[in-house]
Amino acid sequence: MIIFNVIIIGGGHAGIEACLSSSKICNKIKLISSNLDNLGILSCNPSIGGIGKSHLIKELEILGGIISEVSDYSRIHSKILNFKKGESIHSLRYQIDRILYKNYILKILFIKKNIILEQNDVKNILRFKNKILLIDNFNCINISKNIILCAGTFINSKICIGKNVFKFGRYNEKTFYLSKSLKKINLFISKLKTGTPPRIDINHINYKKLLIQYSDYTSYFGKNFNFNNNIKCFITNTNLKLHNFIKKKFKSTSIYIGNISSIGPRYCPSIEDKIYKFSNTNKHQIFLEPEGYYSKEIYLNGLSTSLSLKNQKKMINKIKGLEKSIIIRFAYNIQYDYFDPRCLYITLNIKFANNIFFSGQINGTTGYEEAAVQGFVSGINASRKSINLSLWKPKKWNSYIGVLINDLIKNGAQEPYRIFTSKSNFRLFLRMDNSLYRLTNLAFLLGTITKFKFKYNSNYIYITYNNLFNFFNINLKRNFNIYKNIIIMSKYYGYIKKYLFKF
Ligand SMILES: Cc1cc2nc3c(=O)[nH]c(=O)nc-3n(C[C@H](O)[C@H](O)[C@H](O)COP(=O)(O)OP(=O)(O)OC[C@H]3O[C@@H](n4cnc5c(N)ncnc54)[C@H](O)[C@@H]3O)c2cc1C
Repeated sequence: MIIFNVIIIGGGHAGIEACLSSSKICNKIKLISSNLDNLGILSCNPSIGGIGKSHLIKELEILGGIISEVSDYSRIHSKILNFKKGESIHSLRYQIDRILYKNYILKILFIKKNIILEQNDVKNILRFKNKILLIDNFNCINISKNIILCAGTFINSKICIGKNVFKFGRYNEKTFYLSKSLKKINLFISKLKTGTPPRIDINHINYKKLLIQYSDYTSYFGKNFNFNNNIKCFITNTNLKLHNFIKKKFKSTSIYIGNISSIGPRYCPSIEDKIYKFSNTNKHQIFLEPEGYYSKEIYLNGLSTSLSLKNQKKMINKIKGLEKSIIIRFAYNIQYDYFDPRCLYITLNIKFANNIFFSGQINGTTGYEEAAVQGFVSGINASRKSINLSLWKPKKWNSYIGVLINDLIKNGAQEPYRIFTSKSNFRLFLRMDNSLYRLTNLAFLLGTITKFKFKYNSNYIYITYNNLFNFFNINLKRNFNIYKNIIIMSKYYGYIKKYLFKF
């Protein structure tokens, strides 16, 4: 029987980065996920990036993650946020084609020869000596030196639509009951919630009444994938009539009924929450975002709700431009189990069982980007641990990845944790455009990149570890000082800013 070095449970955004990063360090890696057709699907909004989140993606790109490449490939609309403000908070936000995104991830996973994919459900996790045994649906056993659990919103979860409750992890996908076996490892388990808005038919919208939002031309990696990155988005607003309607229907929402009692993401509230908390406001913006080049669905960003299906239909038809619109997929709320991240080391393994790593939404975060970076860190650490190398402890002074993980393990997550630039004490220093200078050394040391693709005089130059520092004319010692390199490199390219010296 094969004893794997790393087994990853769950092929969401955390699981994918975890298995790709660990495959760069060692062999015998397996990804077990309940449905291989759903690897890397975007559970909710088909959008990647935003304030703070795009910093995480840029850092992952430099370190050798794939989320930036996949999103560059599949974007249909891009926006530069905060462009009029200081450089440190310039951010990118992409609207993504769901199908292209998923297919590109599948392609990357299937061409990796040292990753074994298996469609299966993990029912139980047991510890035996210094190994982990995973029991699947058919009572077969997988043995691994280390495992990474990236189960997202799928643990002990339920979905609520009005008064209806379904035991799902995402709509029509089964939930898993791993909490029992994990409680034995002294983990503190609690509940959080999130929600998703309805999707409507592209053909039944009165576009004349809507405000158009055009795309900016921009990219993370500068790749030209020959796609038209200029699909339009639209903006409309809620109104008093709609607010009054929702107020009348409060009693039929899952929170009022008591089906959901946990806390949701503060920066992504449901429309009921917004009306309740900001009762003086008569309108809230709704963004109409296409779900892809060939998709007929429009995502209603800002209209997440747990009203019943009948009331969702009535609600939408009260919005300007959507009077005749038809719902294709309805909105729902979901409540799920998460584990207190204070039970983890900074390396993302459990304090009482250090060969079990946790990543993604099960640590109390929300968002694809937050999940991806955690997956990347645990992938590296689980694989390094299995071949007896020292583990990577992300630092908060040199990356937002470090900020996120330090915040989680120190403060826990009483509400779904989302990254923001304001969460870093070093936010003037941690910019997207200096990620290269901050993290290239680290990436080479971790072994996640063997050559770096660098844009120089509008040509791409491939630099390997050995000639990187000749190229920059730096005499590199083995234990180099990252600050020194940042300053030298920044000087070389004229990037130096006053506050770099101050810092
Ligand atoms: C309804 C909904 C709305 C959301 N809204 C937003 C939003 O507006 N903005 C935002 O940023 N984020 C949102 N999110 C969160 C976002 O989807 C997650 O943060 C992100 O997908 C988490 O990634 P993950 O890798 O941790 O888990 P997921 O992407 O959830 O993937 C988990 C995977 O693990 C598999 N799995 C789980 N348990 C097992 C098991 N025992 N055996 C085998 N396979 C298993 C599942 O099948 C799934 O494929 C939303 C999520 C949901 C469900």
